[in-house]
Amino acid sequence: CGIVGYTGMTKQSAPILLKGLEKLEYRGYDSAGVFIPSKNADADVLVREKGRVADLEALVATKQVSGTTGIAHTRWATHGAPAVKNSHPQYSADERFYLVHNGVIENFNELKQTYLSDVEFQSDTDTEVAVQLISKFVNEDNLSTFDAFNKALVLFGDSAYGFLLMDEHEPDRMYVAKRKSPLLIGVGSDFNVVTSDAVAMLDETHDFIELLDGEVAIVDPTQVQLFNEQGEAVEREPFHLDIDA
Ligand code: GLU
Repeated sequence: CGIVGYTGMTKQSAPILLKGLEKLEYRGYDSAGVFIPSKNADADVLVREKGRVADLEALVATKQVSGTTGIAHTRWATHGAPAVKNSHPQYSADERFYLVHNGVIENFNELKQTYLSDVEFQSDTDTEVAVQLISKFVNEDNLSTFDAFNKALVLFGDSAYGFLLMDEHEPDRMYVAKRKSPLLIGVGSDFNVVTSDAVAMLDETHDFIELLDGEVAIVDPTQVQLFNEQGEAVEREPFHLDIDA
C-alpha cells in the first residue's frame, strides 16, 4: 500500500522512515514494517507489527536501531491475512534480501511451484515469492543482485508492483522497480529517497524523479541510475514539487 526508503550518509534513517509511514496512513493499511541494515549484519533490525504505525514506532523504540539507510511499508493485505509474518519487508530464507511491495503478483502460485518447491515459506504473501526468487537467482544462478532482480521482474509479466529491495551485502543501496503502481525517487544532497507518494518525503526533499512502468533504478546516497526495460541507461532530470508537507 505505502512505500518509503532512505539511503544517506549522515542522518539516522529510522525516524525519517517512521515519519514517512505516518504521512501515508491516510491511504489505509492493516500492518506496517521497517528494515534497517547495519554494516554488521548481526545488528540488522527488522520490525513488523499488525495495526497502527504508532504501534510499530513503540516497538522500534524498544530496540537498538542505528543506520543511515532502510526501507519501510504499510500493508493493505491482498494475499495472506493481516499478521506479523505477512507484513513487509518480506525476506529471503538466507536473510540477505529484504523486499517491500505494493500491488499483486498475479502468477505467484505458478512461480512458487515452478522455481521454489524446495523453499520453506514463512508467509502467505505473493511478495515472499518475489524475494525468494531473487535470492534463488543470486545463489543458484550466480547472478548479481541487479540481474536477479531483472530476471524476476520479467517473470512477473504484467503484474502490478512497486518494489523496493535491499541486499544486506550492499547496505547503502536500494533497488527499485515499478509497474502500474506509483514510485518516485526523491533527490537530496548527500542522500536519496524512494516513496510511493511524495507527501511522505517532503520534509527531506521537494525534488523527485519519476520512474516509469517497466523501469528499474539503483539508488545510492549520491547517485541514482535508471534503466529501461531493455536494460539501457536512461537519463531523467528531477522535477520540483512546490508544495508544503
Ligand atoms: N500483495 C501484497 C501483500 O498482500 C502487497 C499488498 C499491498 O499493496 O500493500 O502482501
